[in-house]
Amino acid sequence: MNYQNTLAFAQEQDQQDSLHHFRERFYFPQVNKQDAIYFCGNSLGLQPKSAQMYIDNEMYKWANMAVEGHFKGDEPWVNYHTLLAGGAARVVGAKENEVVIMNQLTVNLHLMLVSFYRPEGKRFKIITEGGAFPSDQYALETQTRFHGYNPDEAVIELFPREGEHTLRTEDILQSIKQHSEELALVMMGGINYYTGQVFDMDAITKAGHEAGALVGFDLAHAAGNIPLQLHDWDVDFAVWCTYKYLNSGPGGTSGVYVHERFANDNSIPRFAGWWGHDAKERFQMKKGFRPMEGAPGWQLSNGQILPMAVHRASLELVDEAGGMEALRAKSEKLTGYLEYLINDVHVGKDVLEMITPSDPQARGCQISLLVKQNSRLLFDKLMEAGIIVDYREPNVIRVAPTPLYNSFEEVYRFSEILHECLEAH
Ligand SMILES: *Cc1c(COP(=O)(O)O)cnc(C)c1O
Repeated sequence: MNYQNTLAFAQEQDQQDSLHHFRERFYFPQVNKQDAIYFCGNSLGLQPKSAQMYIDNEMYKWANMAVEGHFKGDEPWVNYHTLLAGGAARVVGAKENEVVIMNQLTVNLHLMLVSFYRPEGKRFKIITEGGAFPSDQYALETQTRFHGYNPDEAVIELFPREGEHTLRTEDILQSIKQHSEELALVMMGGINYYTGQVFDMDAITKAGHEAGALVGFDLAHAAGNIPLQLHDWDVDFAVWCTYKYLNSGPGGTSGVYVHERFANDNSIPRFAGWWGHDAKERFQMKKGFRPMEGAPGWQLSNGQILPMAVHRASLELVDEAGGMEALRAKSEKLTGYLEYLINDVHVGKDVLEMITPSDPQARGCQISLLVKQNSRLLFDKLMEAGIIVDYREPNVIRVAPTPLYNSFEEVYRFSEILHECLEAH
């Protein structure tokens, strides 16, 4: 695409953008009495205006029906998770029965590791990306310890080559092959939270399976950001949160995907609860756990209706916008424009380094800027000027324009302000 560094060009792109009006469906935080330029949807997505109504609806049912709300009315709470399955399945490229919305991300990661990290004999190692989000690191560390291993030995972390910021796919695949005798699991982010690098989940899954290991992904930064094909890629399991690109509120609910080949496999170890028990006899309070078919069989507790109601509002917006393919088409242009403008802000050349891959296929919405001097100061100046981005120690500013509520004009204004800040830097 031929980009131009002018306001008129940015405005023209917005006019041609069929998703532009979706920004009116969200609340924007206010800075200096105006809408902030919000490029932080990779951390906490904005509130859809419709979310309040979806919550009010459930509050009304609770007020007026109380316990009867579980079973009566059009949408009884006992089945509320099924209202989310279709939308969630479309977001991650799965069949409906392969997904369930429940709990929170790290909890779900542990539940999946209980089922799919099954070390045996020589096969006890896990391959993961070095510098993964800390919660994922701690989960792998404590899970391997739980099985009696030393995490330093059991967890193999992959790091970029000397002088590079991101992992090469060939190196990931090579490493999986090299450790194939001792590998129990490949478990990585779908997108690295720090660099914004998209991993080749299809190729990694194939390599993992060839090595005789199971393969799972943490899609915290991928779900709602890029199109996914978990089922077709043959991924074994995945987890994601819903409060980042899926705009479902702070600490919101989370998603789990389990490939259908495990749908009726009752031999898999799991930590069970009554909500995962065969729905037909759940309320008979019988002894002996018999899981529901598919991902819902991993549920523990009765559904958290209020966070799920917000998620429902949000998933409906994704569908209304035309799904992940439509969002992705805009996102590539929007992030491409951001990249172009940052490169064009010439004074920044020796202060900023983009550590996100420049190949659009290897990144989503986010561009991570490594700031070589006074990084915190630059971040503070941007925030004062009404731009909400985020800062990750030791020196990275992450900028994430999202296709559902950000505009080309905002990207342009951001680059103007960045330019001003850098001139004074
Ligand atoms: C955001 C994020 C988390 C956060 O975990 P919660 O359980 O939702 O607090 C974990 N892992 C990754 C990769 C993340 O990006």
